[in-house]
Amino acid sequence: MGLTRRIRDWPVYRQLAEKDLTGRGAAAKSRISLELTPRTTGADKVVKSVCPYCAVGCGQNVYVENDKVTQIEGDPDSPVSRGRLCPKGSASLQLTTGSARQHQVLYRRPYGTEWEPLDLDTAMDMIAERTIAARAKGWQWEVDGARTRRTLGIASLGGATLDNEENYLIKKLFTALGAVQIENQARI
Ligand code: SF4
Repeated sequence: MGLTRRIRDWPVYRQLAEKDLTGRGAAAKSRISLELTPRTTGADKVVKSVCPYCAVGCGQNVYVENDKVTQIEGDPDSPVSRGRLCPKGSASLQLTTGSARQHQVLYRRPYGTEWEPLDLDTAMDMIAERTIAARAKGWQWEVDGARTRRTLGIASLGGATLDNEENYLIKKLFTALGAVQIENQARI
């Protein structure tokens, strides 16, 4: 690269020559960045959605290309979030297409150190059997003479990817089972 070209690429020279004294405009752009295009340029359609991670409910634009989700960004039309997403919401593309997403039930035995794949029917039977047994073991008809009809044998602790509808159903199910310890992360 010639000396003249190197001087012309020097950031201070560009800030002065391109009248970008704060260095936040044209002087901060490289030839490579000028040729970049947004990841959303090739999308066939944009689907409006809501971030599933918490009860704030930030609006999302889901970009689709050839029937595949290619990018998820904040929706500027949302009165809740006005185009913004927190780091979790910004990474929600990983929830849909990320290579770390599991598509099979994994089970780790008590004292086990490795995860074992299980078929769904077997896993559901195991969960049902253990829920019934733990519920019965922790059942309390009365406490200090007061009728309680509850169990302390099971509890529910929901994660960040449960949405409001799922949490509603989980609350219904666990309350019907007699559980009193029911909590989730998805709330303000
Ligand atoms: S997880 Fe973040 S982006 Fe998603 S709804 Fe909550 S605050 Fe909004």
